[in-house]
Amino acid sequence: MSHHGGLMEIDVAIVGAGFGGLGAAIQLQRAGFTDFLVFERSDDVGGTWRDNTYPGCACDVPSHLYSFSFAANPSWSETFSGQREIWDYLRGCVDRFGVRPKLRLRHELRRADWDARRGRWRLDTSGGEYWARVLICATGPLSEPAVPDLPGLETFAGTVFHSARWRHDHDLTGRRVAVIGTGASAVQFVPRIQPVVTRLTLFQRTPAWLMSRRSRRISRLEQAVFRRLPATQRTVRAAGYLAREAMAVGFLHPTVNRIAARRSLRKLRREVADPRLRATLTPGYTMGCKRVLISDEYWPALTRGNVDVVDAGIRRITADGLVTADGVHHPADTIILGTGFHVTDPPVVSRIHGRDGRSLAEEWTPSMRAYRGTTVAGFPNLFFLLGPNTGLGHTSVVLMIEAQLRLIIGALRHLRATGVAAIEPTAEAQRRWTERVDRRMRGTVWQTGCASWYLDATGRNSTIWPGYATGYRWRLRRFRPADHQAVEIDGADRDLERSDAV
Ligand code: NAP
Repeated sequence: MSHHGGLMEIDVAIVGAGFGGLGAAIQLQRAGFTDFLVFERSDDVGGTWRDNTYPGCACDVPSHLYSFSFAANPSWSETFSGQREIWDYLRGCVDRFGVRPKLRLRHELRRADWDARRGRWRLDTSGGEYWARVLICATGPLSEPAVPDLPGLETFAGTVFHSARWRHDHDLTGRRVAVIGTGASAVQFVPRIQPVVTRLTLFQRTPAWLMSRRSRRISRLEQAVFRRLPATQRTVRAAGYLAREAMAVGFLHPTVNRIAARRSLRKLRREVADPRLRATLTPGYTMGCKRVLISDEYWPALTRGNVDVVDAGIRRITADGLVTADGVHHPADTIILGTGFHVTDPPVVSRIHGRDGRSLAEEWTPSMRAYRGTTVAGFPNLFFLLGPNTGLGHTSVVLMIEAQLRLIIGALRHLRATGVAAIEPTAEAQRRWTERVDRRMRGTVWQTGCASWYLDATGRNSTIWPGYATGYRWRLRRFRPADHQAVEIDGADRDLERSDAV
């Protein structure tokens, strides 16, 4: 750390302290790059696992896999852990790897500008201004709740909240609750709130494909074995990894999915006796086109006497309820939005301004593109964790984060070894990468015609990695100097750069 022009100067700025940002901090520290800070807008770490506290919130990827490869947790209490346990795990990692001094909580990134004269990012945060040579954006695809533009929402006299901003101070006992959305979040909280509310009206736009969850408790004996013989947990993790990779076959070759779809429909028949409700819940699109959800409680909860599933579109909201397209008024005193996140238009990107002053939002309009899902031409020394086309439907995104971190550390070592101040991918390398991704996307289940948040405004899938996690990891195994160009530092500070590098 040093100062320049009254501003604190650091080598690497990490924005966000969720899985990505904490992973970056830990891996940088372990690799010997210790001059960094983590800026987090909230007052605690954990990202999406801090924000999503709705009842029933849990991960649908097994915990042994949904954790850092370098930080096993022998104490997971369930095969699919709940939010609290994952959040505790992340908080535990902060101290386990000694990165707490690096955290700058309540520091929201307001603006980042590449300063070509200094070859540095100038960062304006709510906790002060900084210079950083490298910017790692780890703000996460699921950090900004999407609130639908429903006419009259502001006139609603009751309580409205989003699933990622759960109002624990609002007791749902005896309430008439309207839930909008039937995605991964709603599927988890609906069975939890159904027994306590008087009336639950679930507004479904698209029914979800569901598979069994079959989570089970991990016994004390198993935990003791994992603790004493860490290799056993690594084996369980490896087996889980391979099993999950096998699941990708169905996404990449949709015909294979027919077997899984038949199983899902059998489960629906078993869990829902009423043929009309069953028809409402039967998906009309290829399984996997939207995220496949896992639950053993969701469909049974919808058969209860206090639940209505409404699939007519919402026309408007009144002071005391919702009116659907068929003119029916559905009374409610609470509306819970299970309506997802700004995934293809994350607000943070309008705050990052590259070499020619353009924002990343402009660069990514109408579609997000990044070399290896990580770096962007025109944005020197910027690394984006879980950037375009790095999402997964079948396994743990922590695998993708770790692959990206390996690449970033490779890039930092390259900068150190060559004395080059800044790099960015060549436009050609970025184009080639994107073309390959788009080509591989054709024929996958995500292109079978459903509307999903995987697709951006142009209909392009800019979120999902169309392959196996193994394939992505392999492609990112090393930094490729040939795909990058050094970025000119044009100002008087160039000499300073040289002396810095020595
Ligand atoms: P989501 O999957 O985006 O689901 C949003 C739901 O709201 C969809 O059913 C959508 O309907 C509906 N919706 C959105 N806007 C609407 C509108 N204007 N009117 C009516 N309905 C509307 O969001 P999510 O459930 O919060 O999950 C987001 C992602 O978070 C997941 O895909 C997953 O990656 C992650 N997640 C994971 C877990 C887990 O691990 N178990 C749990 C929660 C979340 P349409 O389908 O018709 O668009």
